Amino acid sequence: MLLPRFDYYEPATLEEALRLLSEMGGNARVIAGGTDLLVRMKLKVEKPGYLISLRKIPGLDAIVRRENHGVTIGPAVTAAELSRNELLLDRFTPIALAAGRLGAPVVRNRATIGGNLVNARPAADLPPACMVLDATLKLKSFSNEREIPVGEFFRGPGQTVIEPNELLVSIFAPIPAPWTGGAYIKLGARKALEISMVNVAVILTLQSPQGPIIDAKIALGAVAPTPVRAFAAEEFLIGRQPSDDVFAQAGVIGVGMCEPITDHRGTMEYRCLMIETLTSRALRQAYEKALTWKP
Ligand SMILES: Cc1cc2nc3c(=O)[nH]c(=O)nc-3n(C[C@H](O)[C@H](O)[C@H](O)COP(=O)(O)OP(=O)(O)OC[C@H]3O[C@@H](n4cnc5c(N)ncnc54)[C@H](O)[C@@H]3O)c2cc1C
Repeated sequence: MLLPRFDYYEPATLEEALRLLSEMGGNARVIAGGTDLLVRMKLKVEKPGYLISLRKIPGLDAIVRRENHGVTIGPAVTAAELSRNELLLDRFTPIALAAGRLGAPVVRNRATIGGNLVNARPAADLPPACMVLDATLKLKSFSNEREIPVGEFFRGPGQTVIEPNELLVSIFAPIPAPWTGGAYIKLGARKALEISMVNVAVILTLQSPQGPIIDAKIALGAVAPTPVRAFAAEEFLIGRQPSDDVFAQAGVIGVGMCEPITDHRGTMEYRCLMIETLTSRALRQAYEKALTWKP
């Protein structure tokens, strides 16, 4: 299958990329790893006249620790880099774990966090992980700049609030509180190269190793047109002592936030059961991780 014709640009600065985007408007697409875009172009779902590559723009592929503050992740950081970054594994665990479950190694070496977020597939791995970490996305156009919480970014399958002349230039996540642990679990029908049937990202904060739970965030993917936060389950957890029974009850409440469908990958009933099971399992894993917290 051949790609449609297009002109290709490799700007060397962010400013040049933004200028090109503003001049070319809706007929241009940004290309990062190309693992989504090139497939869609080959299938003729998209036929942009211009591709603007992020490859040569310095700094977009960096993970920068903001001392006592958080982490800034460039949109061109690949899933492979996210999955092996020690800071992310330790403090921002759901992002590292979700990145490690995205596709197979050959995909992870090219696929970027920016592409995964902007692509906005309901089953994508990184959106729920960014949601539980309260990430903020910085969007820039040639004349403007705005920040938006990741939870307000998605509008529907393949749809976000980003404008055609805007670039996602960074993802910022604040440092989680002491005694916080995180987890990410993805269920697919196969072990690799599988789009999620259900995925769950969790953050749990304890007052001390003895409890109680003082903060909880749960985000679910592939269960609705956009990833969703299970707010009712989060509220249920706050103030309670961590236990398998409490985690199981939170899983049951979590199902109430979802609109799962029946398709070739699983029935609605099976998905509901999996949301319940995976939520409670992810909470247990996050709790165990919280107990290992070190200043
Ligand atoms: C075989 C295979 C397996 C896959 N498995 C998974 C999986 O398990 N889980 C999963 O979540 N995904 C999976 N994917 C989808 C894909 O790999 C990911 O969504 C990936 O993260 C996309 O990143 P990219 O850099 O390749 O994006 P690209 O294809 O380069 O871009 C995707 C979209 O985002 C836009 N874009 C990219 N960067 C920016 C930016 N900085 N600012 C504005 N717009 C931008 C592009 O214009 C395009 O519309 C798979 C894909 C393939 C081909």
